Amino acid sequence: MFNLLRESLRAGIVTTSYPATPAAVSPHTRGRPEIDWSGWRDVRPAAAVCPTGAISHVDHDGRRTVQFDLGKCIFCGLCAEADTSIRMTNICECAARSRGDLITEAGYTLKPDGAHDRMISPPSSRTLPLDDVAREIQARTRKLLGRSLHIREVDAGSCNGCEVEIVNLNSPVYDLERFGIHFVASPRHADMLLVTGPVTRNMELALKKTYDAMPAPRLVVAVGACGCSGGIFGENYATRGAVDAILPVDVYIPGCPPNPHALLHGILLAIDRLPERT
Ligand code: SF4
Repeated sequence: MFNLLRESLRAGIVTTSYPATPAAVSPHTRGRPEIDWSGWRDVRPAAAVCPTGAISHVDHDGRRTVQFDLGKCIFCGLCAEADTSIRMTNICECAARSRGDLITEAGYTLKPDGAHDRMISPPSSRTLPLDDVAREIQARTRKLLGRSLHIREVDAGSCNGCEVEIVNLNSPVYDLERFGIHFVASPRHADMLLVTGPVTRNMELALKKTYDAMPAPRLVVAVGACGCSGGIFGENYATRGAVDAILPVDVYIPGCPPNPHALLHGILLAIDRLPERT
């Protein structure tokens, strides 16, 4: 007992002060890719190796629309190996309230060999329409749930990579409970549904029933590339793909898997609890 106490005192405070201070992540952490859009000479080598179709292009009348979908990206780094215009970063705070905010598009004119000639439309995210009533309801829900929050997690078909990271949220380092946020066993006690994995057809009904059992107002957070887009699995005979094919999603957290900082960022974003940074 004495040894345990001595060890605790020796270790001191291990809990991160995130989000009051920036996320302290290792330089070796695999985060989102960064693209040099203006200097990008040819999307085709990167698109050819991307296993999820996160990088894609459409050619029409001598022009090319290039798309990067962070919601599909598994941070594998193959594109960066194939193309010097792309580099991997350790940036993990990538969550977004709209699926469209994860998609960036740019336009180029083409040379005869199919390489990019010049950029004709700069990179911008795809704004998806959200009517005023829906926006008002979302804002009110976030305000109502801005204090104590109860989360029910559902694995709708994940490989359990996301679960390993979610478990870490309750460790002394991340200590989710310091925000008044708790995981609960029953959807009847939950304010937020955290969904991992592509939604398998076997789990579709269970996911819907879990959502229906939650009292309003309720939030849904899609976790990882699979939750955001279906990820490496996409939509097939066994899965329905992204969570938003089944339920209305309030926040998307990209990554494969998203690390605890990324999860914390997404959860706090969903309830408007991130401090303003200057
Ligand atoms: S890091 Fe993302 S964009 Fe690049 S190849 Fe992997 S999945 Fe595709």
